[in-house]
Formats: sequence, structure tokens, C-alpha cells
Amino acid sequence: MGLVFLWPSSQLMNHCRLPYGSWGWPEFKAAVCAFGRRQVTCGHDVGRLERQLGFLLNESRVFAVNSGRTALRMGLEGLAKLRPGRLEVIIPAYVCPAVVHAVRSAGLRPVPAEVGRDLNLRLDSARERIGDKTLAIIAIHMYGCPAAIVEFEKLAVGKGIFLVDDAAQVVGESINGRMLGTFGDFGLFSFAQSKCMVTGESGAGGALICRNQALLPILLEQIESLEPSRSRGKAFVSFVWGYLLAAHTRRITYYWQRFKRPASRTIHPAKIANLDAKIALCQLATLMQRRKERMHILNKYAQQLSTIDCGLQLLQYAPDRYLTRAMVLLPAGHDAASCRRLLRMQSIETRLSYPIFAEEAHPADYAREVADRLLELPASSAMGDSDVMLVCDRLKKIIQGRNTF
Ligand SMILES: *Cc1c(COP(=O)(O)O)cnc(C)c1O
Repeated sequence: MGLVFLWPSSQLMNHCRLPYGSWGWPEFKAAVCAFGRRQVTCGHDVGRLERQLGFLLNESRVFAVNSGRTALRMGLEGLAKLRPGRLEVIIPAYVCPAVVHAVRSAGLRPVPAEVGRDLNLRLDSARERIGDKTLAIIAIHMYGCPAAIVEFEKLAVGKGIFLVDDAAQVVGESINGRMLGTFGDFGLFSFAQSKCMVTGESGAGGALICRNQALLPILLEQIESLEPSRSRGKAFVSFVWGYLLAAHTRRITYYWQRFKRPASRTIHPAKIANLDAKIALCQLATLMQRRKERMHILNKYAQQLSTIDCGLQLLQYAPDRYLTRAMVLLPAGHDAASCRRLLRMQSIETRLSYPIFAEEAHPADYAREVADRLLELPASSAMGDSDVMLVCDRLKKIIQGRNTF
């Protein structure tokens, strides 16, 4: 769907891309409309987005901000005000670096705990790391795979600490009829490039979902005083060029970036810009359609990998589970970086794992053991069944040392 129609597929164009957002005409129409009416920075769509997300999440109070990092930072700063002197936040050792960054920018200390085979924080490891300085636990649904959030909520209540439900990577999934993002004291979403609702590059959007009634007045004051995010027009063009049209523009971008300074990782807290809220509303409307497309690709990968039988495991997979990424674990002795290089030579895009965040005394052995063997497979919505089969076939040849490219 969407952009794919703009360019007919050809032999030269490779479909085996990572799933960076998938926009159709409505997103572009919304953008043209925002530019034309000069509603890029401010407008009514921000309120509409907050109300629609609130409705989806069963009347929780939602604040639309400029990134998941902003949501995490503002929420943690609020919790720290409720419990001064508690400075530690327990996070999974396998984690998106943005989380570490957000915890530190709130003036707090991230404390890593071990993850399980599903790459999610382990309940027993988190419990072990609770001390009298612990402010909160951040449970993440890694790549969309639900964490044991119900159990984490019980643990947090029992120990008198806060719980953050980091649903940055998954919007619209639920456990026992309760939406992810609405557990604990506050939750968050991100609308960055590799998430399931995409408004642009990191910094284009996110949301904070507040459940704790004592936290709410603090957030109302803090977030209402933020300015809306600016310079979004330029960021919009950069996202369309660098991600949505990457198959066509990658080469030019590569040379251009050699002259450019690398972008800073810091994101200044701001409210979401109206342009991004408008795009988020379009993405929300097609969430279920994209979920279906992704699940089709995941099922195909699972089926194909089980038939080729060479020790490749599709991590976190379950037949009805929506995952934002197709992660495989390579058999012991193989390393993801060299596998990635070989696949890239065959125009198959893959991505490596996050860096591990651990401490000497708590080395997070499992996370460390698997990190070098994790590889994200392409799962763009432009891929057909034959593309999935091709990727699996190439992977198998590499694993078996029969790579003839
Ligand atoms: C991406 C991500 C964030 C941060 O979101 P940004 O919008 O990039 O700031 C936070 N937590 C997790 C788990 C994420 O994957």
C-alpha cells in the first residue's frame, strides 16, 4: 500500500527493507493541508490526537509530546517530586539507549536488571535490585512483545515503588482487556521511525499516559508550559527523503552525510507539533491494517525458518502476537555483524541489536550472550512472500557456510 504505488517495482529496486514507517496518501494529504493552512506548529489536531488516544486507552489522561524521551523524562521528573531522595530507576539490561538517556536527563540513575528469553525485563531480577533508593521500575514491551506487566504492577504496589509502562514500541495491544501503556503510574508511546505509529524521525512525536492521580497536577503544570516543537517542516522533508524514499535516495544521502555533522541525540522537551499530530491521527486510523500486514510477514518468516531447520530462531514469536520487528537469534558461533555484511551485499537490509546496558556487579549474562547473535530481518510492507523466502534462503546459505555471493 501507499508509497509503493508511486514507483513500480523493478529489478533494481530492493524490497527487503527494514520497516521504517508505512505512509499512504492520507498522511501526505494531511501534511500538504497543514503546510497550506500554516498549521505546522499549532492547530486543533493536537487536542484531537489526545482525545482519540484517550478514547483508545479507555479515558486515561494523555499528553501528546514531541518524543518518547520527553514523555519518559517528564513523567520521571514528576515521580521524583512525589518521592524526593529516591534516585534509582530499574531498567532492563537489553534496552533502547533512549531510555538510559531519558532516565539520566531526569537527574536519575539507571540500574540495569537481567532480561529473559523474550528480551523483556525479568521479574525476579528486577525484584532483586529494589533498594531503599529505588524510585521506579521501567517495564518495556520489547519489540512489541508484552512484558509481565500485570506481575510488575503487583510487585511495584507491594514494594511501594512506582511503575512505568513503556509502550514506546507498541500501540493498541492489550493484556486481559487492558491496553499496554495504561499499567502502573504512567505509560508512554513513541512515534519515531521504527515504531508502530510513525510521524517522522525520533523527535517527531510521542505521548505520555498518566494514571497516577497525584502525578497528574504536576504533569498538567509541566507539560502545559511546554512550547510546541518547531522546525518540523524541515524534519518532515528529511524523514520522507531519508526513510520513505530510502530505496531511491540512499546513495545521495550517503555522500551528503559525509559532509554533514552528525545529528545530536538530545531532544528538548516540547509538545507535539500540529503537523505531527495530524499524521499521527492518520496512522492511528490504519493501525489495524498495518498490524495485519506485519503479522502476515512474521507468520511467513516463522513458517519458512521452521522448514529450513538450521538453528535460526524467530525470537518472541507467537502466531497471534503483533511484533514491531522480526528478530532472529543466530546459532551459537555465528555473529550478527558479519552476517549483516554478507546480506547487505545482496541488497538485504538488516539491523543489529541494541548495545547492552549492564554493570560489573550485575553483568546481565543472558543479554550479553545473545546480543551479538541478534539480527533484525527486513519486514517492510512492500515485501511479498517470495521476498521472505529469499531472505530465509540467503540466511541459510550464510549459516551453512555456502554463501556463494
Ligand atoms: C524508542 C523508544 C523510546 C524513546 O522514544 P523517542 O521518541 O525516540 O524518544 C523509549 N523507550 C523505548 C522502549 C523505545 O523503544
